[in-house]
Amino acid sequence: MKTQVCIIGGGPSGLLLSQLLHLQGIDNVVLERQSRDYVLGRIRAGVLEHGFAELMREARCGERMDREGEIHEGFFIAHDGRMDRVDLHRYSGGSSVIVYGQTELTRDLYEARDRMQGTVVHDVQDVQLHDIAGTSPSVSYRKGDERVRVECDFVIGADGFHGVSRKSIPAGVLSEYEKVYPFGWLGVLSRTKPVSPELIYARHERGFALCSLRSQVLSRYYIQVPLSDKVEDWSDEDFWAELRRRVPSEVAGRLLTGPSIEKSIAPLRSFVAEPMRYGSLFLAGDAAHIVPPTGARGLNSAASDIHYLYHAMLGHYRDGDDSGLDGYSAKALARVWKAQRFSWWMTTMLHTFPDSLAYDRKLQDTDLAYLFSSEAAMRSLAENYVGLPF
Ligand SMILES: Cc1cc2nc3c(=O)[nH]c(=O)nc-3n(C[C@H](O)[C@H](O)[C@H](O)COP(=O)(O)OP(=O)(O)OC[C@H]3O[C@@H](n4cnc5c(N)ncnc54)[C@H](O)[C@@H]3O)c2cc1C
Repeated sequence: MKTQVCIIGGGPSGLLLSQLLHLQGIDNVVLERQSRDYVLGRIRAGVLEHGFAELMREARCGERMDREGEIHEGFFIAHDGRMDRVDLHRYSGGSSVIVYGQTELTRDLYEARDRMQGTVVHDVQDVQLHDIAGTSPSVSYRKGDERVRVECDFVIGADGFHGVSRKSIPAGVLSEYEKVYPFGWLGVLSRTKPVSPELIYARHERGFALCSLRSQVLSRYYIQVPLSDKVEDWSDEDFWAELRRRVPSEVAGRLLTGPSIEKSIAPLRSFVAEPMRYGSLFLAGDAAHIVPPTGARGLNSAASDIHYLYHAMLGHYRDGDDSGLDGYSAKALARVWKAQRFSWWMTTMLHTFPDSLAYDRKLQDTDLAYLFSSEAAMRSLAENYVGLPF
């Protein structure tokens, strides 16, 4: 098989880039290890920056997002038994975020790829990258009994944290920066009316909690749990009881509970691999960096990579200008690190750390006190949460 761009990974990063390139007449193929049902069964992010939404519209995939997504102009931080509101609209100069599930967004991207007869190959096994140091790379994979080789100009590694692309870069090339947090988030999705129209981030001595949503009939709740906990340890009843303990009593009193339709534990980790390019391989999204979900930066950071990569590819194919490709890694990483800093700060301020000193807890108190007493601090939070410019 021959194509211009071979994209490994059919998650949001890979599909969005595929769709944008196709609209510009740049031929590409997406290789995805899992079935489509499996990819669409994963419950992940739900808060989109406007920059991301713009890219979805540019990719002609924004119609349902604009119809069904909810504009959120603020969120709450619950602490010490009270709730303080972060007015994103006011402190970001009129901006907001869109609540629209990653699952729905991925479905829209798949449907757009189908409409345009884009090539997305599912259930590929044993994906291998060849000759990526040079200018004639290829990617091979197995599907059933057949081994297929895709020859291309560029390979895009959009295959997530556990993918094969980053691991195909020779040892010694990448610098990897990692911080693993000593806890995870236990998440429950339930077909219930959300307890609050806006998200509630709750700091509590028993551990962090988040009341989030996907729509007005679909709620997503999380509680901080030790890394040793297993999903089977938590019945729905235990989960709801613990969530009630961690939110202010007025919120606990109006919480509507129901059977979980998905329940999973996600460990919290920060990770960045530098550089994001090796020869003709470009890394994008979770393949190069991940953040703890506090602050909702993961999916949005993937989107900014795609924005830079898309324009770099356009420069190459349309204008014969490679400056975008040459500058991609540095440009993407500059924004990635700001998202890392913000996610680390939100995580540190709001979670209970098992071995924290009394001193650390005083600093957490002071961080919150400063935030709600300083317009400058509020502006900084709002600017980061709605998304720094691309
Ligand atoms: C449990 C969980 C909860 C999250 N919650 C949030 C949140 O609340 N807010 C937020 O902003 N972010 C959240 N994130 C992060 C967000 O979901 C990711 O940043 C986003 O999915 C990144 O998209 P991606 O396309 O780069 O990677 P992925 O979505 O991981 O997609 C990569 C794709 O590559 C495929 N793949 C892997 N290996 C191969 C291979 N060898 N060959 C071919 N295909 C391969 C995978 O099957 C996958 O479909 C969460 C992540 C997880 C895991």
